[in-house]
Amino acid sequence: MPERPPAPAVFVMSPKGGVGKSLICANIALALKRRKYKVGLLDADLSSPNLLTEILPTKGSLRIENEQIIPVEAHGMQCFGINLLIDERLPIATYSEQYAQLLRDVVLKGRWDVDYLVIDCPAGIGTEHLRLISIFGDMYLGSIVVYQPIHYRDAVRAILFHKDNDIPLLGLVENMAPFMCTKCKEKYDFFGESVAEKLEAEYGVRVFGSIPLSVALSHAVRKGDPVIKGKPASVIKKCADAIIEAKPRKPGFLERIAEKVRSSIEKVIIDIVKIANREVDIRGLMAKYRARPGRCICFRFMERNMEDVIEEVYITFMDGKMFIITPETLMAKFGGRADMVIETTPRAFARILLGDYKLPDGTTYTFNAAWRLGEFRIWGATGTYARALEFVNGLIEDIRKQRGFVTAKQILRFLAG
Ligand code: ADP
Ligand code: MG
Repeated sequence: MPERPPAPAVFVMSPKGGVGKSLICANIALALKRRKYKVGLLDADLSSPNLLTEILPTKGSLRIENEQIIPVEAHGMQCFGINLLIDERLPIATYSEQYAQLLRDVVLKGRWDVDYLVIDCPAGIGTEHLRLISIFGDMYLGSIVVYQPIHYRDAVRAILFHKDNDIPLLGLVENMAPFMCTKCKEKYDFFGESVAEKLEAEYGVRVFGSIPLSVALSHAVRKGDPVIKGKPASVIKKCADAIIEAKPRKPGFLERIAEKVRSSIEKVIIDIVKIANREVDIRGLMAKYRARPGRCICFRFMERNMEDVIEEVYITFMDGKMFIITPETLMAKFGGRADMVIETTPRAFARILLGDYKLPDGTTYTFNAAWRLGEFRIWGATGTYARALEFVNGLIEDIRKQRGFVTAKQILRFLAG
């Protein structure tokens, strides 16, 4: 990526919506501003953007000057949100990829003069977030995850998402925690008992603290003052401290050098074709899984954002053998088109083939894991998905058993990361 982000970035995420992500995001940004840092505040939430409408209402609209997007100056910060482009009453159903591209342009081509970018993410945790994080590359400081205690399982999922994808997690904030009624002195736990200590002990993460559910806070936000005060303010302070102390760290998935990856993929594929043709009963496998011969299958190796292509390899199975299709044959015999496209990252490909790769959550990396983590896609006619998976799975299982697999394995270990 030629352009660099203007400043290190922090994402405020939550596995669910309505848990206080935008409120906490705004408070973290304001806390950094109070410490004299110049802050860029971005709302990356497309379906329910309330950072710059409800929490820190911001008027104005974005201007473009000399191909540069000019963020709106408000609240002593530089702000961007979709509501500064499109009437906030209107629903937006564009594709998350499209929004990621817009955000990329805003970040990389915007006229920012900031020390930090604080970003309010869409609710949920998935490929959308990976795509957004990949915009920042080694300028990504880490995430702050907001959760309600009742949604312990979602908090765990968010933690494992970071671990499995090797994304830095600064820590978590427990919001809408139990509170003591000042009048009747009873404790209320609408959203469950605190699980902060449990999460810290079980997953070795940092929970910055618990912010109780508070009527006073809710009223204050509605009156236009979103600043969290009193004891819970210390939670926000800890978040700001962690951001200031954090050092940008290259997310693992960006670490390997593209060139080395490309040549390794080629070597591995050639090896696999050799082993398959020499040692595997391809004819038998095809009969077993009713795979049709002569189909053109494209393996498309993608960057972790699943957008940029690293390498494409076309293969076919015919007369009980596996063939790599050359560009000339692809044009002449297949009209330049594959019948099925399998998109995956070199890392996922290698991990699946190895069959013994363990994720930080302790589970083995299989097709399932690749699919679950958004590193595996199949495009083809309806009905091809299951059959193709079964056949490829069967083929891989057989290849893994062969003696010739040893050299391929070494390269795969490198690719697997
Ligand atoms: P999200 O961005 O996760 O959807 P918001 O930050 O918009 O959630 O919070 C939802 C609503 O709850 C907002 O009106 C916010 O002011 C309010 N809120 C958030 N945290 C608390 C809290 N601890 N006590 C009372 N109200 C809260
Ligand atoms: Mg929000």
